[in-house]
Amino acid sequence: MTEKIGVYVCHCGSNIAGVVDVEDVAKWAAEKLGHQGVVVARDYKFMCSSLGQELIEKDIKELGLTRVVVAACSPHLHEKTFRIAAQNAGLNPYLVELASIREQVSWVHTDKAVATAKSKAVVSGAVSRVIENAPLDEIKVPINPNTLVVGGGIAGIQSALEIANAGFHVYLVEREPSIGGHMAQFDKTFPTLDCSACILTPRMVEAGTHPNITLLTWSEVVNVAGYVGNFNVTIKKKARFINEELCTGCGICQEKCPKKVIDDVYEAGLGYRKAVYTPFAQAVPNFPVMDKENCIYFEKGTCKACEKFCPTNAIDFNQQDELINIDVGNIVLATGYDLFDARRVSNYGYGRLPNVFTSLEFERLSNAAGPTTGNIVLRDGKTVPKSVGIIHCVGSRDRNFNNYCSVICCMQGLKFAHLVHERTGATVYNFYIDMRTAYKAYDEFYQRVLEEGTLFVRGKVAEVTDAARYSNERGKLIIQTEDTLAGKQRRIPVDMVILSSGLEPRHDAREVGKLFGISCSMDGWFTEKHPKLDPVSTMTEGIYIVGCAQGPKDIPSSVAQGAAASARVLDKILQKEVALEPIKATVNKEMCSGCRICNGLCPFNAIAFLADDNVSEINPALCQGCGTCVAACPAGAISGTGFSNEQIIAQIDGLLMRNLEPVEA
Ligand code: SF4
Ligand code: SF4
Repeated sequence: MTEKIGVYVCHCGSNIAGVVDVEDVAKWAAEKLGHQGVVVARDYKFMCSSLGQELIEKDIKELGLTRVVVAACSPHLHEKTFRIAAQNAGLNPYLVELASIREQVSWVHTDKAVATAKSKAVVSGAVSRVIENAPLDEIKVPINPNTLVVGGGIAGIQSALEIANAGFHVYLVEREPSIGGHMAQFDKTFPTLDCSACILTPRMVEAGTHPNITLLTWSEVVNVAGYVGNFNVTIKKKARFINEELCTGCGICQEKCPKKVIDDVYEAGLGYRKAVYTPFAQAVPNFPVMDKENCIYFEKGTCKACEKFCPTNAIDFNQQDELINIDVGNIVLATGYDLFDARRVSNYGYGRLPNVFTSLEFERLSNAAGPTTGNIVLRDGKTVPKSVGIIHCVGSRDRNFNNYCSVICCMQGLKFAHLVHERTGATVYNFYIDMRTAYKAYDEFYQRVLEEGTLFVRGKVAEVTDAARYSNERGKLIIQTEDTLAGKQRRIPVDMVILSSGLEPRHDAREVGKLFGISCSMDGWFTEKHPKLDPVSTMTEGIYIVGCAQGPKDIPSSVAQGAAASARVLDKILQKEVALEPIKATVNKEMCSGCRICNGLCPFNAIAFLADDNVSEINPALCQGCGTCVAACPAGAISGTGFSNEQIIAQIDGLLMRNLEPVEA
């Protein structure tokens, strides 16, 4: 069959047309590629606009086009747009090919002649390739209406509640004994100074008692199999050594337990808990967990005070870890962040100088439910500071640690300034590089803190030291900094230093990413499908990332993302089935030597080895068509739909312009 190909060259405003002579490219395609079947070639200002799409649809219908090439931006951005346009006009969407003359040409060249010549080559490659394209049909798979949410911080709770309130079942899995996440450790939230627990606790209780939510705390996901719509997940429910059916949460066991342990999770090392404990008073669920490492009975075989006094016989020292298997259609990852370890900035003295505190320590110190019942005091537990220095950007915006901005540190530093001022009347200094107070009511809060008398020093702090040079520095911590507004070095003595530490990806984010088949950015945050247009989806269909698992963010943004991911999940559930891209890899069993090289390379765990037949096999529902295995197979036994050898070779021929003259018969 002779193909009828339409070529559409986009100006992309001046994005492409500013560097590429788009009229010339279209004219050239019509003249030089006519023998390959190009029957029409047009240029248009915005091909992705409705008018641009209508232009293509009209040509498909009126000229009977059988193939379409759009020379525009990257397939990542608009391949779907043009495939839908083709489908609307009755053409199989996979007979459309995108030639990226924006990312690959106009954005990387300045010479118009060179860019125009290269655009012609790219278009020529796409025309040769599209001739080899075959019509494909989407693969439809059913959606299991159950959802797994991993992480019980505010983003995960929000996500779980939205789905559960819509009438669908959610498994909410949390590593710690209670849901609540970091927000449960805070006293006040900026900029409104709401009591954190007052706004969080009702949500926690709602999640804990919701008929559509199965809460699995003290639990971790250990295996994920399957694909969108049909994930099979194994969860390890760690032994609490408490029978949840019998426990009433009375707290007598904790009261009677003789073993005190420093609580370096919830109390950030400033307070104590017992060996059997609930992390905080409003914990959900409200029954305790036994810390096996520190329990006297597990250590020495004696004690059992908790068992003796428990009025309901709920203590069970024989309890074992349990593996639970669940089937879900979608997964939301809300695994949160780790706080930057301030010890790494050794010149700020944290861990060496007692009165240098981290932001989390200060949160506990200022919390009415914390170890000092909200009294802001020095490490001795009684002295109220008369002067406090708050250092911003600790571990963030710093090439030695993390280049990125942690988003919350400025506002957190302002909140601390307000609380110190309000509760101690101390002189407060904030040391900042530049102040970032975007979002609603944030800058107003900054103005309020300024008016309260907090002093601001712009410049990166070089050092915190206790080595006094002058008499007024004796017994103090001295903050040595460059004041970039005054243009001089300053030494400011204070009683207390608070490090407004940045956020980091969870220490095990890469392993967790591998478990769920999603990738991490260079910095270690989970990678979203599109940073602007699709910030909660991932490249793996059916897996979403929300809150700080995706990158640093504040509470409102985390809540918004939790809700956004739920909307995506509900959309899938309500459609009852999902259409998967048919671009997949397949193994030719005759050619497969069983070497298994491809098995470990697939980033989506889509390849299984069939030992009986000594061949590898690809699960089409899991395969994302990335082509890794196609390139790796030494026997050439794997081919990719949409990326066949014929298509690739034709494209190379086109790019090299070996296709320009018709081959004589
Ligand atoms: S004493 Fe028994 S019932 Fe009370 S909290 Fe402890 S385990 Fe639960
Ligand atoms: S193309 Fe191969 S490596 Fe890529 S997702 Fe599919 S099976 Fe895995």
